[in-house]
Amino acid sequence: MRSIVTILLLGVLLVGCSLIATSPSKIRVVATLHPLADLVREIGGERVEVMTLIPAGASPHAFEPTSGAILRAKGADLLVYMGAGLDDWASEFAGEETLLLCLSEGMELPDGDPHVWLDPVLVKEALAPQMAQALSEIAPDSSDYFRGNLRRLQRELERLHAEIRAALATVEVRAFITLHAAWGPFARRYQLEDICIEEFPAAEPSAARLASLVRSARERGVRAVLVEPGYNPRPAEVLASEIGGQVYEVDPLGGEGLPGRERYLDLMRYNLQIFVSALR
Ligand SMILES: [Zn+2]
Repeated sequence: MRSIVTILLLGVLLVGCSLIATSPSKIRVVATLHPLADLVREIGGERVEVMTLIPAGASPHAFEPTSGAILRAKGADLLVYMGAGLDDWASEFAGEETLLLCLSEGMELPDGDPHVWLDPVLVKEALAPQMAQALSEIAPDSSDYFRGNLRRLQRELERLHAEIRAALATVEVRAFITLHAAWGPFARRYQLEDICIEEFPAAEPSAARLASLVRSARERGVRAVLVEPGYNPRPAEVLASEIGGQVYEVDPLGGEGLPGRERYLDLMRYNLQIFVSALR
């Protein structure tokens, strides 16, 4: 009797398992940077499960993935990264079945700069369409769904772009100083000028370099020195006091759990507010 019950129970369990196994599963996506992960989520909607490799506050330039992150990347259906010298290390962690989407390969990078997600127009025209394309390759049955989400996202990006353009059209100072050369594509799009202290790795700039920066900043009335989470703010503080300016913290990456910086669209508006007060 007991064995019959066991067999019946086993049967129920097996049927249960096979039901779970045949239900449509989500596309597993791993992205290096949080903004890329969020954009894929906007396009993939409920049909994707997205994970970010780089935690909030860490730099993609000097990132060492944990073994857990590597395992998840190996099990991913799609691995999305920027490439062009920024996060190329990610491709090494793809599994045999993983589709690799290197975004910089499918577009023309202005001046070879990989920080193009900070330009909403390039996101709309190049990054987001590549993501939709890759998702459709993996799940052709869902391609209409992805295309619909892409169009909705592109309309939101268009609104974001118009909003940034309008807000920055009236700022008095057109130049700013940064510690990290991330804002080039953003500056180009909105006719601003980014003066970068040092290319990454953001080592302490030399005294001579600081002196020449102070001179050119004074000449042009530049007062904003931008820092980012995770960077040593010391050189920026020194520079700001030399030019009688101020240090502002912008965030090119955002992250899960950071209020107002989780969605790409919100992250850009968060930074816009800081740019507006910094350039006023
Ligand atoms: Zn960077």
